[in-house]
Amino acid sequence: MQKCSRNPYRNAALFAAISAAVVAVVLVSVLVVAAAGMASPLGSGTRESNATRAASPGVAPVVSLGAAWHGCAAVPVSYSYDQGLTDLEVAAVEGSLARATEGLRVLTGRQFHLQRVRAGSNAPPGTIHVSWSGDDALFAGDEVGFTVLYFVEAQITRAEVTISLGLLDRYEVGNVDDRGESVTAVVLHELGHAVGLGHSTELDSVMHAHHGTDTHVTSTDRLGFEQVGDDDC
Ligand SMILES: [Zn+2]
Repeated sequence: MQKCSRNPYRNAALFAAISAAVVAVVLVSVLVVAAAGMASPLGSGTRESNATRAASPGVAPVVSLGAAWHGCAAVPVSYSYDQGLTDLEVAAVEGSLARATEGLRVLTGRQFHLQRVRAGSNAPPGTIHVSWSGDDALFAGDEVGFTVLYFVEAQITRAEVTISLGLLDRYEVGNVDDRGESVTAVVLHELGHAVGLGHSTELDSVMHAHHGTDTHVTSTDRLGFEQVGDDDC
């Protein structure tokens, strides 16, 4: 029922040695649905489950995907959005990205370099690309975002994040440390996948598969972000 069941785009010739996983967030407004998600946060038979390794010691219930960005250079985070957005919508897209990326920097200790690129761009090797799309067909059910993660052994090589522009009609931009549903929380969730985090079993975690009124960066989330960012830089 989730994006996780789809086969991610891959170029077999170029990325023969590269693995990919798709991880998604589905937003719901009622806690009971989030509770249902708790029983099986990753879904069953998904590529994400297949790619997920054992949870990292000390950071449970956040699940590490077993891969991280290596090296100390700033990770380029490019973004693009559909044509025809209003100034307010562009401000929401760019504001939430700036806040989530800054939050990610603080949480992981890593540097990120945010820049806009033309729509239709894919993530070149060594980058995270965030594509904002108004195409509802890309998203299943209540899904509002998903991430395709490419990695070679334990090293993430690139990540392609897709986020629904429909979010802008539903939520305020918000801040990283706010509680509740916000555009920034969704962006941070997907960027969490892009740096190697899977889903959390904590209902109020920003890395839970469903977001709710109490969603925030929990203390175990912080440990998870810290761990994937730890690279002796
Ligand atoms: Zn997710």
